[in-house]
Formats: sequence, C-alpha cells, structure tokens
Amino acid sequence: MSSAPPEMPEIAVRRERILARIAASASQAGRDPAEITLVAVSKSQSEARVAAMLAAGQRTFGENRVQEAAVRWGERKARIPGLELRLIGPLQSNKTAEACALFDVIETLDRDSLARALVAHRDKMAAQRDKAAALPRLYVQVNTGEEAQKSGIAPQDADAFIAACREGYGLSIEGLMCIPPAGEAPGPHFALLAKIAARNGLAHLSMGMSGDYEIAVRLGATSVRIGEALFGARTPVEK
Ligand SMILES: *Cc1c(COP(=O)(O)O)cnc(C)c1O
Repeated sequence: MSSAPPEMPEIAVRRERILARIAASASQAGRDPAEITLVAVSKSQSEARVAAMLAAGQRTFGENRVQEAAVRWGERKARIPGLELRLIGPLQSNKTAEACALFDVIETLDRDSLARALVAHRDKMAAQRDKAAALPRLYVQVNTGEEAQKSGIAPQDADAFIAACREGYGLSIEGLMCIPPAGEAPGPHFALLAKIAARNGLAHLSMGMSGDYEIAVRLGATSVRIGEALFGARTPVEK
C-alpha cells in the first residue's frame, strides 16, 4: 500500500468547501443544490492531484484539450464507473471523431463547420451500425463579451445558430456555455446567457469558474467549471 499523496486530504477539504458554497448560493437563490453539477477542471494538473480528486469522490471532469485529455483519461475511462468527461476548450473539426469517442459532453459547439463535422461523424457511425453512434451531449458556447480572440457564437447570432443545429442538422442541444471577459463583472454575462437559454427552451447553463461560481449559481448555472480553487494553481503548460 502506498501512502496517500500529501495533496489528498487538502483537495478533499477544498472540494467539500466548494460544494458547501455552491449549496449555500443555490439556497439563497431559492434553488435546489442538487440541480448544480461541479465540474472539476483538471487541465494542466498533476496526476497526483487528479487521483486525489477521484479518491475524494469527484466524477465529473472538464478538459480543454482533446489530446491532453486522451492521454489522461483514454485508458482509464472504462475503469471508473460514473466518470463524466466534458470538453470545455475549442474543438477543431478534424478532431471531432476523437472528441466524440472520449467526451460525454462537448460544451464548445460554436460554429457551423463544427456542427457539420458532428453530423458527418454521427452519420458515419450510424452507417457502420456503431453502438457508439450517439453523439456526446452538446452545449453551444456563446461569446457574451463579443471578444475577438474568444470562441463562441455572438449573442445576436445565438438563436439562429441554435435553430440551425436543431432543425437544420437534427442535433439535440442541451445547454449553453460562456466565459465572461477577464476583468469585467461576470453577472451581466451570466444573466445574458440565462436569457438566451430561456428563450430557446434550454435547461442547462455551464457558467462560473473559480472566481465567480457563486454569482453564476445565483444566476442559474446548472454546472460550474472549477480548476484552481479545487486543485490549486496549475503548473505551467509544457508542450
Ligand atoms: C481553465 C478553465 C476553467 C477553470 O478555470 P479556473 O479559474 O481554474 O477555475 C473553466 N472554464 C474553462 C473554459 C477553462 O478553460
């Protein structure tokens, strides 16, 4: 038996504290805490910390790169019952098949070419009678701050894009995701995302990160994506 890594108790404590804060924010807003999923963002975190998070009972993880996620989770996924993986970073169309094989949720559907790549992948799987023919659950990413460098559909184009995905391509859209601009109050961005979701009949909102998840929960988040507040600071990315 190996001894527990030093991060282990600390990570479990942090996770409990964050779950308690999520529950408190939900209650303040008259919401049921059970409606909110904690997504542990494990990108650029060490294996020891990820193992500690799994040992603490966490089963939903977010990753922002397909390749990095495949290395970390590919082999292990089938061995962890209840594991749910969410892609929260941009997806290149040529990585669609790989992403669909690994992820349970893709939160970053943000353009027509990606919608078409998903449809092509679905149709190819169906033609091969592949049991894995069902696509991952899909969220549309909205660029609420209309930032040039950020991916996501512009807010004014969101309704048309969602309709095109549903009616044009037969894709089932489960929710919306946003990343507010750094240095701006996140509240108005969360409220805008909630408004777009409501008028399109979408029940799921992925919003809120380490610094603003309590605000997001009060404004209707059904999942919060938390990295550093859960795991500790990310190590610089080595590529
Ligand atoms: C990294 C990342 C997060 C987590 O950020 P923290 O500030 O560490 O909580 C959440 N969402 C997305 C899309 C990310 O890329």
